[in-house]
Parts: sequence; C-alpha cells; structure tokens
Amino acid sequence: MAPGHRGSGVYVPSFYQVPAVGGTARPTNAGLPWPVVARTVPVLRSEDHPRRMLVPLAEVAQDRLSIEVQRGCVRGCRFCQAGYLYRPVRERDVNECLAIAGEGLRHGGNEEVSLLSLSTSDHSQVEDLVDRVSALAAERGSRSRCRASGPTPSRLVWTVAASRVRRTGFTFAPEAGSERLRTVINKGLSEQDILLAVERAMDAGWRA
Ligand code: SF4
Repeated sequence: MAPGHRGSGVYVPSFYQVPAVGGTARPTNAGLPWPVVARTVPVLRSEDHPRRMLVPLAEVAQDRLSIEVQRGCVRGCRFCQAGYLYRPVRERDVNECLAIAGEGLRHGGNEEVSLLSLSTSDHSQVEDLVDRVSALAAERGSRSRCRASGPTPSRLVWTVAASRVRRTGFTFAPEAGSERLRTVINKGLSEQDILLAVERAMDAGWRA
C-alpha cells in the first residue's frame, strides 16, 4: 500500500467517537487515519468477476446468472446513496460480459441471465450488449432477462423488443411527480421522456 494510502478503506467504528447529535466522527487518538478515504477499483477487471456461480439445490428467488455490466451510475440523483457511494462509473466491456455469460451458462446451466448495474440502460453499448448476450443465451437454450433499471429506458425498450430477450417487467423510476421536483432532485427526466418510454414499451408489446 502506498504511504499516502495508510489506513484508507478501513474504518473501525470503536476507534472513533461519533457525536450524539450532528457533526462527524473523530478519531480517539492522533495516530489514527482521518479522514478515512474510501478505496475503489479503477477498472472492473475480468478476472475479478465470478465465473462459476454457485448453483442452488432448492428453487430460489433471483435464480439466474447475474453479470455486473457496470458499477456506479452516470446520474447524480441527490437522494441516491448508491449513486454517490459507487462512484466513479466503470463499464465492463461487451466482449468480457459475453465471456462471463458463456462460461457461466456452460457451468451453471442457468435458464436466465441478468445484466445488472445501477442503471443498465445507461451503459454506452447497451444495444450491442443486450443483443449479443441474448443471442448467446438463446444458443444455449436460455433466456436473457434484462433488469431494465435506469431512468432513460426508451432506448433499451427498443433494444429488448428487437432481440430475443424474454419480455418481463420494466421498471420506470421517475421518482417525483412533477418535472420541477425531478429537476430539484437531479433526476433529469422530462414529462416527454417518460411518456415516450411508456409509449415505446406499449408499442413493443408490453402491457401495463
Ligand atoms: S439513476 Fe438510479 S442509481 Fe442512478 S443515481 Fe439516480 S436513483 Fe441512483
């Protein structure tokens, strides 16, 4: 660990005092690192992603091959803890996602694949990603399921509709009922964006 990083990424609550009301934690002695700086991996390395997932013996919820396609979120919604904690945004390359999917399906025999992130629809290559993973899954007799998280789903709606992905649910999360409030919380979704996404989903075969 570089000298400048001494103690970074490790916070031991018993070594710090937290005021009963307001304020921030303080170290209980001068030798302790402060502030404790979070450590993040600069890139999502292929070798760090699990390749052979555990296969449950019983039927479980979320029983599918999950691939983390991106970490962090390009948005900056003010209320979102994950959006702040998982900065910066790091994308996984499409070829890498394919390699993970191929190996995972071969070894786990899953029937479904999930492309996971805080906001999958914001992956810069989402069309290519959905298309190629769903083609691979179809070859293996599986279905890819896109957890269509993200505030700009209209692009993804078309991608999924045109691919072999099984159409499950779509989650639109405008978070606030008026455009003014969405601007305040930094959601950046206009009335038109929402209506367009819903219209496209309906045109593509989803039903409310
Ligand atoms: S788009 Fe979703 S994940 Fe991203 S910052 Fe906003 S609420 Fe958080």
